[in-house]
Amino acid sequence: MGTETKKISLYIHVPFCKAKCYYCDFNSFAGMSGRIAPYFKALLGEIELYGERLKGYGIKTIFIGGGTPSFVDAEYISAVAESCRKHFDLLEDAEITIEANPGTLSFEKLAAYRSMGINRLSMGLQACQDDILKSIGRIHKYQEFVENFQQARRAGFSNINVDLIFGLPNQTLEDWKETLDKVAGLEPEHISCYSLSIEEDTVFGDRLKAGELKPADDELDRRMYHMAKDMLTSYGYGHYEISNFAKSGFECLHNLTYWKAEEYAGLGAGAHSYLDSVRFNNVYSVEDYIDCISRGTLPVEDEHPLDAEEKMSEFMMLGFRLIGGISITEFMQRFGSDVYALFGNKIKMLENKGLIEVIGDCIKLTDSGLDLANQVFMEFI
Ligand code: SF4
Repeated sequence: MGTETKKISLYIHVPFCKAKCYYCDFNSFAGMSGRIAPYFKALLGEIELYGERLKGYGIKTIFIGGGTPSFVDAEYISAVAESCRKHFDLLEDAEITIEANPGTLSFEKLAAYRSMGINRLSMGLQACQDDILKSIGRIHKYQEFVENFQQARRAGFSNINVDLIFGLPNQTLEDWKETLDKVAGLEPEHISCYSLSIEEDTVFGDRLKAGELKPADDELDRRMYHMAKDMLTSYGYGHYEISNFAKSGFECLHNLTYWKAEEYAGLGAGAHSYLDSVRFNNVYSVEDYIDCISRGTLPVEDEHPLDAEEKMSEFMMLGFRLIGGISITEFMQRFGSDVYALFGNKIKMLENKGLIEVIGDCIKLTDSGLDLANQVFMEFI
């Protein structure tokens, strides 16, 4: 492959779940098993349509996300993987991730994923206590997760992420400590820790409105975050993004594409893309998505071309998510101008507030900036 090849990431959305978790506002649906076959037919159609558009690109990462991709039969995923290899130039060392949830996995399924070339598994666990799992609408118990994790190792997965959530209703600091200890004890290569955010149009959102749910207070939320940082670091995980921790060399290459504001194509209902300086997304409805593809058109809506200033602002906002921050040199190489020329005043102001710091070539969040990151992001929206 020549050095000219542009590299790009691919996101593939599978919007089906066995049940809807109470906190989830993703574009995912339970009770739609009857639409799985037509949806995947459409997905294969979209891959083919994109084949032309992405000519000349090398695919560096694929992320099959959802939803719960492991909810559907492995044959569907296999057809997608095969079609990607046929229509795209998949780089030899590509990182290929599939999201999976306990309660929808088996050794056979995991072995099938490995045989398709999927080399990274991202498992949704959230918490280790069965009563908490039940209270947030998860379909599995902790022990099922452990069994699936061990099956994944036996099937040959040597790069596994585990997703966790803190700040859950009725979750104590002790619960969170137990979760971190147990999960780190299993030694996955990567752990994500997200603070619960209660969104509208979710079961939790409705309960909050009705006064039936008490969210974790800010102080507890921050103590949990600091606990995650301290414990996971001492377990040997590098803290490389606000919510993400990895053993050295196992940072998620796919998500780094987003945080570095690089290009990616999103396929499937509601998937977002960033291509040729335009951000756009597919229609969210599964039916509309299937309809569009069956008519031979890409199901795109909401296109937003970015001008030079917007691109620079995004680069800053996303880059601050990384613990290493933004490289002043990289900014110059990418945009041909000095970061201080456009953002000098903001950088000074945020530095004075103690939210960011400049160390050598890097502009990054301080420890207190990590807790108040939204204040920093707001400056670049
Ligand atoms: S499994 Fe994931 S995508 Fe599905 S409802 Fe739960 S959180 Fe949402």
